[in-house]
Amino acid sequence: MRAKLSLIFLLCAAIHVTPNDAQTAPVAPLSADLARYYFESPEAEIAARSDLESALKRLGNFRGQINTGQRLLGALQSYEEVLTLYRRHETYLRLRCSQNRKDPACAANSKLGSTVNAATAFLTPEILSVPEAQLRRFEAADPGLKPYQFTLEDIRRDAPHSLPGNEEAFLDRLQPEIADWQYDLYEQILAGISFGTVQTSAGPLDVIHQRNLLVSHADPRVREEAFHRRFEGFAGRRDLFAFTLIHTVQAQSALAELHHYADAPARKYASLHLDPEQARALLTAMAQHGDVVKRFEKIRADEYQRANHAQLQPWDLAAPQNNFDLPVTPLTDAPGIFHEAFSGLGAEYQEAFDALLNPRNGRADVLPGGAPNRYTGGFSTGFAGSTSMLFIGRYDGTFKDLSVIAHEGGHATHRGFMSANGVKPLYANGPNFLFESFAVFNELVLADYLADHAPDPRLRHYYLEQWMRIKGLDAFYGAEDALLEQQIYEGVSTGDIRSPDDLDKLTLQVDSQFSTFPATTSELRNRWATLSLMYEDPLYNINYVYGGLLALKYYQLYAADHDHFLQRYIAFLKNGFDAPPAVLLQQYLNINLFDDSLLKDDLVLLNRRLDQLELGPAPGTPK
Ligand SMILES: [Zn+2]
Repeated sequence: MRAKLSLIFLLCAAIHVTPNDAQTAPVAPLSADLARYYFESPEAEIAARSDLESALKRLGNFRGQINTGQRLLGALQSYEEVLTLYRRHETYLRLRCSQNRKDPACAANSKLGSTVNAATAFLTPEILSVPEAQLRRFEAADPGLKPYQFTLEDIRRDAPHSLPGNEEAFLDRLQPEIADWQYDLYEQILAGISFGTVQTSAGPLDVIHQRNLLVSHADPRVREEAFHRRFEGFAGRRDLFAFTLIHTVQAQSALAELHHYADAPARKYASLHLDPEQARALLTAMAQHGDVVKRFEKIRADEYQRANHAQLQPWDLAAPQNNFDLPVTPLTDAPGIFHEAFSGLGAEYQEAFDALLNPRNGRADVLPGGAPNRYTGGFSTGFAGSTSMLFIGRYDGTFKDLSVIAHEGGHATHRGFMSANGVKPLYANGPNFLFESFAVFNELVLADYLADHAPDPRLRHYYLEQWMRIKGLDAFYGAEDALLEQQIYEGVSTGDIRSPDDLDKLTLQVDSQFSTFPATTSELRNRWATLSLMYEDPLYNINYVYGGLLALKYYQLYAADHDHFLQRYIAFLKNGFDAPPAVLLQQYLNINLFDDSLLKDDLVLLNRRLDQLELGPAPGTPK
């Protein structure tokens, strides 16, 4: 696996949710000042690429020469120099490309990425080929290697799984033909389906592109038709989707076997520093506790029954409440809300988040209503030597939009903390689930703040429900997908899964542990076809499980002993990833990542919050 010294970094893209048409978009945008923090102009960026080229050349001089401790150190330092320069260009180009998808920056960015990737690809296999005893001698002879100890250990973890000679490079070259074509095919199949439109009182709405409007439409008939049409569309190509999924699984399984792993899930889990056996046991345990999700479904069903005198159906989960307008927050009010919401995270965190959203600083690019050709999702940037920034493609002032700012702004703040603390470029990225846990924790804090300060009981209840639906149950929704995916890998390898019918059967069996709907709604058995992440980024789902469980754990520690937790939490954020996640979690927060108590404690919290929801909006006087 070539992931160790890799340019692939977190691409945490938030999916945008469009609000109801009735809501009006707030207007004043926040704009990123790229000239101030990155390059004066597009021409200046192009001219500055010569520095990056020189750095790549210096790194290239170490090719085939890593035969002393000093040269190993030189190669690693040179690589960090490349990373630092490259990320500056990459961030600048990515931000420009996101502002306008037709900007030449888009093509320039992907070209620059491939160039840098190709020029640095020799490093990991060369370090892996140094015999263990020789590496020990290098380390003893050159104390400068000490800070790189974890990087080297991390690379060496792969030693039993690496292939001899050129085989690894050969496989890398064939990667697109072995494992990347399946997602291209998935997208092609999807693009060929005409899902159609649903007629509404305000005209037709597109089943896919206007799905957010359809699932939250006030008319239950519209929601139902949209639901059926979407699943009918997928079902119409289920043979092709099954072909694509089974070939995804077979490719990943073959690669895992070739690299001496028990199977593809074990390979993926190990790459995240997880214990494959423990991860499997955790997913099984979470399925056994899947009734916590069903309990939330039941609360929603009771509420729906009371309000509409009708039974809640799967297409009603995002139905709007009667006579209840959701709040719309103008962007100009957002910085003030976050200032208050994150006061609980301590002055240092609060100031950092304020600085990110301060319009005078030009570090956020948030556009009310979005724009044609503008990327609609959200992400953050920031690295050693590059100021952290926040990009939100489209802001409509919904709660979800604020939650996305809390999340992505959390990544930006975390990156800013690491840079200010001088974290080495090689330690600025870590396992995705750990990175995500910090961002999800912010979302929990925001929803709670809004609930506590809601002007009336129904609004308070709404925010408490969002706390649960958007993030509280994230780990369980993740576990449902991760368990389904893991069992598809098992079924394909035993030969039990060979057809769409087999996939339907397994989906029903797994999903029924987390929801009551699959048993009564036959279309839901086709859910395996709709889970694009399984095709796009195989086995990524496990990150939502650990990330979600950790965020809930931070929340408990935060609520129980605020000051003690905060001090350690901020130190953890500043530290970077210079040890395995389980070691860092133990060291900073005394959390045992692999102990049963993580899930048990989270379940206590979730059930306590569900008790609160079950009571419904408090009838008393508004706060
Ligand atoms: Zn994220």
